[in-house]
Amino acid sequence: LFVVFEGGEGAGKSTQLAALAERLRGQGRDVVVTREPGATAVGQRIRSLVLDTSGDEAPSPRAEALLYAADRAHHVATVVRPALVRGGVVISDRYVDSSLAYQGAGRTLPVDEVSWLSSWATGGLKPDLVVLLDVEPHTGLSRVVSRNAGTDRLEAESVAFHERVRYAFLDLAAADPKRYLVLDASRPADEITGQVVRRVEEMLGS
Ligand code: C5P
Repeated sequence: LFVVFEGGEGAGKSTQLAALAERLRGQGRDVVVTREPGATAVGQRIRSLVLDTSGDEAPSPRAEALLYAADRAHHVATVVRPALVRGGVVISDRYVDSSLAYQGAGRTLPVDEVSWLSSWATGGLKPDLVVLLDVEPHTGLSRVVSRNAGTDRLEAESVAFHERVRYAFLDLAAADPKRYLVLDASRPADEITGQVVRRVEEMLGS
């Protein structure tokens, strides 16, 4: 089973991902927790190219889209597919939708082209479930700023950018409702975990 968590900055993805993994491991399942960008050694270098650069040093939007696609291609080939093949549950912090939302809607690259690039990178591998933690940008960004993580880069991106990203995620969910679980990230963490666990257990038939 392939489960992906998506959402804007400060949506609480890492907390929820860890809670789901703990629950499933407690049931004795083979669980692989992973993320994009940066789950592999190759990915770490790409992550640094896309996230630790700013201004003139930052890759142009198309170069950025290709770097995320390269990270994803390697991630799928070396981490995600092997784990799925051996029957594991893979839980990824971000996947294709992040590219459609950030590189497509955010950086205003044509979304169909970004989508094509991702399909090529992944060989068409789609998640069984996408948990979208929906957060209003002001709330999410203030959570991130308060823990002081990567704020320079985030402050360079306007609230309008994050609004576009948010609505792109919501539109993707609306277009394929069976594959998505959309949750309000401002709700208490325990309540969100409960909803995610229930849905995943249903899918696993446990
Ligand atoms: O999930 P995490 O907070 O580690 O993501 C790091 C950053 O990478 C996010 O702030 C997001 O802006 C950016 N990102 C992106 N495009 C992607 C994936 C992540 O712009 N496809």
